[in-house]
Amino acid sequence: MQSRRDFLQKLTGSVIALQISPAIIAASCSNATSYYDGPVLRVAIMGLGSYGTRVAEAMKDCKKAKLVGVISGTPSKIKDWQAKYNIPEKNCYNYETFDQVKSNPDIDAVYVITPNALHHDQVIRVAKAGKHVICEKPMSINAKDGQEMVDACKKANVKLLVGYRMHFEPKTLEIIRMRKAGELGKVLFFQGLCGFTIGDPKQWRLNKQLAGGGAMMDIGIYAINGARYMVGEEPIWVTAQETKTNPEKFKEGVDETIQFQFGFPGGAVASCLSTYSMNNLDRFFLDAEKGYAELYPSTGYGPIQGRTSKGELTQPHVTHQTVQMDEMAGIILEGKQPPVPVDGEEGVKDLKIIDAIFLAAKTGQKVDIKL
Ligand code: NAD
Repeated sequence: MQSRRDFLQKLTGSVIALQISPAIIAASCSNATSYYDGPVLRVAIMGLGSYGTRVAEAMKDCKKAKLVGVISGTPSKIKDWQAKYNIPEKNCYNYETFDQVKSNPDIDAVYVITPNALHHDQVIRVAKAGKHVICEKPMSINAKDGQEMVDACKKANVKLLVGYRMHFEPKTLEIIRMRKAGELGKVLFFQGLCGFTIGDPKQWRLNKQLAGGGAMMDIGIYAINGARYMVGEEPIWVTAQETKTNPEKFKEGVDETIQFQFGFPGGAVASCLSTYSMNNLDRFFLDAEKGYAELYPSTGYGPIQGRTSKGELTQPHVTHQTVQMDEMAGIILEGKQPPVPVDGEEGVKDLKIIDAIFLAAKTGQKVDIKL
């Protein structure tokens, strides 16, 4: 079976750069040879799985963020990571001991990259230990839990960010810039297609207890989040239809395919699809009165490719997680404001919409969304 990553990587090609926002240039030029003497965010990664590994590799090229610690339940992985990333013993924890990060002055933030349903308790424990938290998407498995995470971080006076790497991706940002500048005119329609064919039926992504759902939590969330940043408004209603072709693999509470539609206050509508049973689905399309914008692939690890009614998008490919971590360090350490929010409140909005989609699919009713 093809993994999501295999699929997404097959869609890549190379793209040359012409235009890019200054903020992204500053961050994406970071590497061991470029000079930087500003503040550095010292990060411990919790969950040394496939995405944690990707983030760790990308962080080698960060200038404002540095991997300094690990939290894992597997001692052999800790040893490997220590050797690979030069991590001292005093910065290594397991899931029982990580509250002790509280008394470690050499760690500023913990990046939680574990299965979805674990995020809630782990983020709250990190907050109580007084460290900033970056949490992978989906931030949690429902809006109530997400709000508790936001509240716990506020109470502890630490920042909570969600790993929305596309919020720093240059072609995505260019479309957002064009839309904000009025170059596309009034937005009328968005289509977001997000899916891949999932393999091993025993993996945590197909276990409701750990995943909180199925494709929607994992990949459909990109269409939801994308609809919001491409249209530039918050949806006010949703309708949804669920299809299940394999109830053995996609058990009760684990969605295989959901189609959903949004209405926006300005009159735009969106039509989206989230699935674990179709390949080649990674496409955003925005239609507006004066033009259109398309990203395909739209949310994979890149290179993202796209065009608008004005021509091909030529912003350079950047390693998403490198830029994300440099930019997040800027947000945490210097109070920088990202063009599209990546805070806990942003994560809760997506979760409120997911709650509404599940309700709409279950009842067949149009559900109002209040964010
Ligand atoms: P993975 O299965 O590869 O890694 C999960 C890690 O969590 C493993 O190291 C595993 O040992 C650990 N773990 C701790 N407790 C566990 C438990 N009770 N059961 C199972 N594993 C446990 O998964 P992944 O692909 O790295 O995904 C982790 C998180 O990252 C998810 O929330 C996922 O949505 C997110 N993710 C985000 C992106 C992105 O592009 N932003 C991409 C992939 C995954």
